[in-house]
Amino acid sequence: MVQKCVILVTIDALRPDHLKSYGYHRNTAPNLEKFVKNGTSFSNAFTNGPETPSAFSSIFTSMLPLINGGFSPLPSQKLTFPQILKESGIFTYGIHSNPNLSKFFNYHRGFDVFLDGERFKEHPNKPDNEEKTSNLLHFIKKILNYQKIFRRLIYGLRGFNKLKNFLRNKLPFLTDILLPFAPIAYNAPYITNKVLPFLKNHTESLFLWAHFMDVHSPFNPPSKNVLQISHVDISNQERNFLNNNIYRNPHKHRISKDVLEKLKILYDGEINYIDSYLSYLFKILSQKYQKNCLVIVTSDHGEAFFEHDKFFHQGIVYDELLRIPLFIVDIGKNTLVRRVNNTVQLIDIAPTILDYFGIPIPDSFQGSSLLPLLEGGFLERDDCVISETYQKDGLMKRNSKNGFQLISIRKNQLKYIYNEQNNAELLFDLKSDPEEKINLFNEENPQLTQLRNIRKSHLKEVTLTTELSKISKAIGQVDFKKVKL
Ligand SMILES: [Zn+2]
Repeated sequence: MVQKCVILVTIDALRPDHLKSYGYHRNTAPNLEKFVKNGTSFSNAFTNGPETPSAFSSIFTSMLPLINGGFSPLPSQKLTFPQILKESGIFTYGIHSNPNLSKFFNYHRGFDVFLDGERFKEHPNKPDNEEKTSNLLHFIKKILNYQKIFRRLIYGLRGFNKLKNFLRNKLPFLTDILLPFAPIAYNAPYITNKVLPFLKNHTESLFLWAHFMDVHSPFNPPSKNVLQISHVDISNQERNFLNNNIYRNPHKHRISKDVLEKLKILYDGEINYIDSYLSYLFKILSQKYQKNCLVIVTSDHGEAFFEHDKFFHQGIVYDELLRIPLFIVDIGKNTLVRRVNNTVQLIDIAPTILDYFGIPIPDSFQGSSLLPLLEGGFLERDDCVISETYQKDGLMKRNSKNGFQLISIRKNQLKYIYNEQNNAELLFDLKSDPEEKINLFNEENPQLTQLRNIRKSHLKEVTLTTELSKISKAIGQVDFKKVKL
C-alpha cells in the first residue's frame, strides 16, 4: 500500500481578505503565499458555522451543525473522519489549544495522539459510599464538578493569553526562546516545536491536524511582526486600550477609522507571526515528501471588524465571519487548476481527506470531495451554503436549550438570514450589496419562498435526525456510517 499523508492546518479566526492571494494590500503571510503557489486556492470558501464549535463540528463530521443532535459537545452519534481514518489503519495526530475542541467536548475521538492543551484533567467522581452520600448529593457534586471543569477550560484559553501578553510586553527578547516550551496552552512556537520532530521521525501513512490560535483575539503580536506590517509599532499602552476597551466595549467608544486600522495592524501582525512558524512546517514537509502528501490550510471562521457594529466572532452570520481561506497543495503534483471559483464549504474537508486516502465516503457525510476540482472537474450539486449556530442576544450558545437558531442560506447571489429569537428574516443581494447593508426582505419577493422552503426542509431534517439519534441510542442498532441524509 502506498504511504500517504494529509496535513490539515487550521488557523482560528483568519479572514481570507487579510491575505495577499485574496486581494489584500499587505503581504501578511509571505511563507504561506509561497507554499500555496504550487497548489490550488478557493475564492469562494465558506464556513458552516460562525464560531469555533459549530465550524469544527462541520469540519470533523461533514454535517451541518444543527443536524443529528447539534454541535457542542460533539454528539457521540456524529461520526468524525479521524475515527474512520483510524479504523482504516492510518495514524492520526492532533494538536491544538482551543478549549472548545478539547477532549472535554469529544474532539479526541479517532486520534492516536491528541494534545489539546488541557491542563486540568477530569477525575472520576466516585460516590462516597463510606459516608453514605445520597444520590442527590452525588448528582449535585457532579454538576458542580462539570462547571468547575468548564471554567478551567475557559481559563486555559485566558491563561494562554495572559502568558502571551506578559511575555510579549515584559520580555520580548525572551518570547521566542520561552514559548516553544510553554505548555500552559499551545501557541505557534509550542505547536511547531511538538510537530516538527514528530514529522521528521514518522514513516507510516499519517493524518496530522494542527490548529493555531495566535490570530485569535486579543491581538498582541511581537513588535518585529508589527513592523513587517506597518512602519511604526503600536505601544503596549495603546495595545491594551485597543484590546481591552475598544474591542470588548465598542459601544462605549467612537470607532474611528484610525482605531480600526490599528486593530487591523495588530491582527495582521498575528497572521505574520503564525506565518513565520508555518515556514518551518512547510520546509520540513517539502523536504520529507516529494509526493503523496496533501496539505490543506484553512480557517474555522473569520473575524468581525465592526462591519455590522460588532467585533469578535459570534451571534451573527454576515460574510466577515462566513468567508474563509482555503488552500490545497498536493506536494509534487502540478494540479491543473490554480484557482477555483466554485462555492465550497467546511463540510467538504472530511470527504476530501477520505477521498485522498482512497477510503469510501459514508452516506451520512453532507459534503463532497474537492479533489475533482483540482483537476478541472465539477461538483454535482447546486451552489447552496447553509451556515448556522445557536445564539441568544448576540452571544454564542451551545444548544437549543440555551439559544435560538441563527441560520444563513446562500444561494446564487442571494443570502437569506433567519433569526429564531425575534423571528426576523433578512435578505441581501450579494452582487449589488456584497457588504450586506441593504435588507431587501419583502413578503412579495418571489425568491423568498424558495429560500424559506430550503430553511423549512433543513429544519425538518434537523428534527428528524435528532429524534432518530435519540431512538437509535436507546436501542443501539443504527450504523451511522450508512444513514443517508
Ligand atoms: Zn474559532
